[in-house]
Amino acid sequence: MTEVATAPRQGDAQELARINHWIDGRIVPGESGRSGPVYNPATGDVAAQVDFASVEEIDAVVAAARKAFPAWRAVSISRRAELFFRIRQLLDEHRDDIARILTREHGKVHSDALGEVARGLEVVEYACGIPSLLKGEFSEQASTGIDVYSIRQPLGVVAGITPFNFPAMVPMWMWGPALACGNTFVLKPSEKDPSASVYVAELLKEAGLPDGVFNVIQGDKIAVDRLLEHPDVAAVSFVGSTPIAKYVYEAGTQAGKRVQALAGAKNHMIVLPDADVDMAADAAVSAGYGSAGERCMAVSVVVAVGEVADPLVQAISDRAKKIAVGDGSDPGSEMGPLITGQHRDKVASYLDSGAEQGAKVVLDGRESAPDGDGFFLGVSLLDEVTPDMDAYRDEIFGPVLSVVRVDTYDEALTLVNENPWGNGTAIFTRDGGVARQFQFDAQAGMVGINVPIPVPVAWFSFGGWKASLFGDLHAYGPESVNFYTRGKVVTSRWPDPATSKVNLGFPQTR
Ligand code: NAD
Repeated sequence: MTEVATAPRQGDAQELARINHWIDGRIVPGESGRSGPVYNPATGDVAAQVDFASVEEIDAVVAAARKAFPAWRAVSISRRAELFFRIRQLLDEHRDDIARILTREHGKVHSDALGEVARGLEVVEYACGIPSLLKGEFSEQASTGIDVYSIRQPLGVVAGITPFNFPAMVPMWMWGPALACGNTFVLKPSEKDPSASVYVAELLKEAGLPDGVFNVIQGDKIAVDRLLEHPDVAAVSFVGSTPIAKYVYEAGTQAGKRVQALAGAKNHMIVLPDADVDMAADAAVSAGYGSAGERCMAVSVVVAVGEVADPLVQAISDRAKKIAVGDGSDPGSEMGPLITGQHRDKVASYLDSGAEQGAKVVLDGRESAPDGDGFFLGVSLLDEVTPDMDAYRDEIFGPVLSVVRVDTYDEALTLVNENPWGNGTAIFTRDGGVARQFQFDAQAGMVGINVPIPVPVAWFSFGGWKASLFGDLHAYGPESVNFYTRGKVVTSRWPDPATSKVNLGFPQTR
């Protein structure tokens, strides 16, 4: 492991007693006197305390980012690209270290954590192409002797507020394009798994990023609220649950900021009668239970159309029963614990409410959960779920897969389109015509055709519709370049002063 001239990496074991801020290129212990517990979800132990910032500490981190902005925005684009190649290389070399931190604090199994880092790294790779992404347009001789060109300039200090479920990847969605575009950044990671952000901050410094360009402030609502109202924060990117996303969008825009707030989801996977049942079952199990269902693109509802329902439920159940649930650092585990005991209990409560409201509990994860104090819930499957049940209406965000049975494609489509969320959706079929119609009709931001988790590749953008996104622009890809920059159009002429005269008429082009 490469060394940096700062305090020991907070990702290393035994050093986790206190997780601090990263301000202006160094670790800064919190002084607010407030902190929160960080658990190892596999054991239920408190592994560390994380500092919670005060308003004054937020002001200090924003001041550091503001101070760093003029010099950073003046760094040439080709130099920024070079730096991003170095960042990319260091992150690549430390994939495994980052993944181990994720497993320890989030609970996801190591292979899944590596997958998270890999997908985040793709966004960093996209940011390496910033010279072409920031190229403007040029019209020579737009009018006689007049050239017009467009340029895009950074916003200033931008803030990112991120959820617990992707502690490395979602921050990369934000700081990758934001820094490449010339902004300075303040990240407020989830207080539930905050270490990866500080570890990555150290790598960015090691890569050569100037102090103050990337900062991490730990905290809770007090930190978020101050960032939302701070006059020197130009824009806020948020990813998290729908109620908080809506709040962040409303408070941030009211304070005059540009805000994109990606929110919760209830992703439906439609399986048509002509689908390959084994393939659909493999997909539903992978997308429903991967990362213990704590993914915003997880499949939460399987909509079984017509006679596919019985064999499909059987095939899902057969596969789900075999999933090895355990400590994410054990190579034999396929699914880890949930993030907290409280969240595990809430997720499990949908098995009771589902049964009370008429669903059939095919698999009850409470019976198959490993013993011990870890926040485990085994895989759970509810069949014959209907839209009025709590298990259907709420975003469960855990390993509980619901099956809704309908008779026709139109009924399935109605379910997707009437759902308040519109993050991702998928259809499994062998009929290209129906699949094409679904792509045309589905009211969701990301559609999979025989692909259960259609997270776009890094050179497209990620985002949902309806209650899954507040704001206009999606995350990463080309839309992120628009989000993190402002457009400017320059009209220029170099006339002979001898031809100059006063003309009060409105400027004409012809
Ligand atoms: P959350 O909304 O509880 O927390 C997200 C962030 O908001 C955290 O940094 C947290 O500290 C902060 N926060 C929490 N309560 C707050 C409050 N009252 N005021 C101000 N800030 C507050 O979300 P979570 O539980 O960490 O993450 C899971 C949620 O995120 C799920 O709903 C999931 O669907 C969603 N998510 C969405 C996407 C997407 O791209 N649409 C991606 C990942 C996760």
